[in-house]
Amino acid sequence: MDCIFCKIIAGELPSTKVYEDDRCIAILDITPVNAGHTLILPKEHYADITQTPADVACHLITVAQKLGPAIMAAVGATGFNTTMNTGSAAGQTVFHTHVHLIPRHENDNHAPWQGKAAYQEGEAAAIAAAIRERL
Ligand code: 5GP
Ligand code: ZN
Repeated sequence: MDCIFCKIIAGELPSTKVYEDDRCIAILDITPVNAGHTLILPKEHYADITQTPADVACHLITVAQKLGPAIMAAVGATGFNTTMNTGSAAGQTVFHTHVHLIPRHENDNHAPWQGKAAYQEGEAAAIAAAIRERL
């Protein structure tokens, strides 16, 4: 399979590893948002979070709980973002599921998402109902 993360996991491409266990590895992102930006990758290939078995997804988050504070301490950050992009519209570029851990500093100029216009009357209830119907 032509997957850059599978090749990293197989040791066919280099990476800077910060953590490994039987189910996942964590590596530094090659183009960090801030120094210490880390990616947690399951060793098995799944395209995105919707394709990832629940136990594997839970494990990635468990590892994020452990790694996040360690990254913060290592780079002197005071917060971190935990992000998964799903689909190209959401910015996913590597289709091997992964969790971003992005250490954050006060006033580091990475603005949070801006909210758009508020819902119209009844719109929020209709969207919530449409979501519930599809669960
Ligand atoms: P996505 O946009 O799919 O959520 O995130 C993919 C991330 O993988 C990007 O932040 C990108 O910088 C990182 N990335 C892409 N290729 C490589 C690589 O070869 N090595 C490492 N360490 N990170 C990579
Ligand atoms: Zn892969």
